[in-house]
Amino acid sequence: MIATQGTGFDVILVSGEPYVDHPLSAAGVIARILDDAGLKVGVIERPRWTDAADFARLGRPRLYFGLTSGSIDSMLVNYTPLKRRREKDEHAAYRSGMPDRALLVYANRIRSAFPDAPIVLGGIEASLRRFAHYDYWANDVRRSLLLDSRADILVYGPGESQAVEIARRLDRGDDLAGIPGTCLVRRGMPGNFEEIPAYEAVKVDPEAFCRAQNAFSVRKALAQRHAERFVLQYPAPIAAPADLDRIYGLPFSRMIPSHFPEFRMAQFSVVTHRGCIGGCSFCSLALHQGDRIVSRSEGSILDEIKRLTAHPDFKGFIDDLGGPSANMYGMDCPAPCEGGNCLACGSLDRSHERLIGLMRQARAVPGVKKVFVRSGIRYDLALESEEYIRELSGHHVSGRLKIAPEHVSPKVLALMNKDGGRFEEFRRLFRSLNQAERRHLKYYFMVAHPGCGEDEARELAAAVKRLERDGEKPVEGVQIFTPTPMTRSTCMYHTGRDPITGEAVFVPRTYAEKKAQKRMLAG
Ligand code: SF4
Repeated sequence: MIATQGTGFDVILVSGEPYVDHPLSAAGVIARILDDAGLKVGVIERPRWTDAADFARLGRPRLYFGLTSGSIDSMLVNYTPLKRRREKDEHAAYRSGMPDRALLVYANRIRSAFPDAPIVLGGIEASLRRFAHYDYWANDVRRSLLLDSRADILVYGPGESQAVEIARRLDRGDDLAGIPGTCLVRRGMPGNFEEIPAYEAVKVDPEAFCRAQNAFSVRKALAQRHAERFVLQYPAPIAAPADLDRIYGLPFSRMIPSHFPEFRMAQFSVVTHRGCIGGCSFCSLALHQGDRIVSRSEGSILDEIKRLTAHPDFKGFIDDLGGPSANMYGMDCPAPCEGGNCLACGSLDRSHERLIGLMRQARAVPGVKKVFVRSGIRYDLALESEEYIRELSGHHVSGRLKIAPEHVSPKVLALMNKDGGRFEEFRRLFRSLNQAERRHLKYYFMVAHPGCGEDEARELAAAVKRLERDGEKPVEGVQIFTPTPMTRSTCMYHTGRDPITGEAVFVPRTYAEKKAQKRMLAG
């Protein structure tokens, strides 16, 4: 049973973003999973954080409070890349209803209302602040969120199996140690853990900060000292395709609440897989969802689409068929290794055959008019299959395909760990396949990434000019790099070094530098 009113719940979820009974909603999935395990679940969405009583309106849960700020860190939601509050942003004013550092505030409110109630942190904000981390908005290295929030346990990654196991353990009165995909604070460090540089060291020593960054992995048992205690990370659970089939097979209503209209554009989106093998330096997905692909079965995906055709709001359109990178579906490694680079590895099946087959079957489901692919694609990988590019552009996009080359400077692209210089090759192939149908590409670019000085920004601006001269209206979006916790690029930003090579990296840090680079692209 899931409810937003009443009392007598086993678990109460507090979500910074609106709650939707939908597989793309962080709280929505956890609520369904707990319900499926036979638990009574209460949901408090977007609590009035200045009012402690609002956190107590469903009473005390029998087992625990689960806190999440949702699918984006609250600081990213509340501030622009230039650290301006979004509600004051003249271009796109936005009021999130979430406090800064939402999980800290929520945990403190819960602690004052229910001093002994177990608190579980989850979602992306918890996941990527599980160790000592550079906080761009404070321009400082902060302790693990687990310590600052005084919560009992932190879940990193999507968190489904952890949410149920924590409930079972608390129900039995068992210790919470050892649950895969969680972090705990303990006075001692078990022998099988790898110790990474302590908070006190990474706070003052860039070299130690880089060593910690290089040690991060979801597959390791890691320990980080904070004064006389340790933050312990237990390796993540290894999800199997059947696990995803079960999760996405749950009876989500997909009804969109009137107070969250913006979610309507994803109402009929279908997730095909998890994980990403791209390894982009500015992205933290590998340390949240994992850097190995886990694909759902075709049968489970097609069954879901068939169910959607019976939904009262369904108009014949699947909003998206994808995942972190849409074209990585089916690229599950038969024998995963530790630390290899999948994109360059001979064991990886890059044929896109499974995906092409799925796309054809999906659009053939009775009642489906069109299946859109709106998730980003990894275009250098797509070059492995001209047939895939033909299928995609011919049936699954609305006249324009958005890709994210991010930059053109080889130096910056190397620091971003992107692309390997196949942008022009993809552009030429796409144009040759789509010119007659007047389909075209739109690009996302990023400025002010570490390594991107004025020269590199000028190089990018010149490339955009060339694209425009070539009759393209290329730019879909220009993003100013934002250092988010736990990424390689954030480590460069904070330390001025590339943690992998140890080499010094130029970092544009001032408002003026970043603004100037963005203006260059605006031309
Ligand atoms: S064997 Fe290759 S494809 Fe598999 S996990 Fe390792 S690097 Fe990736």
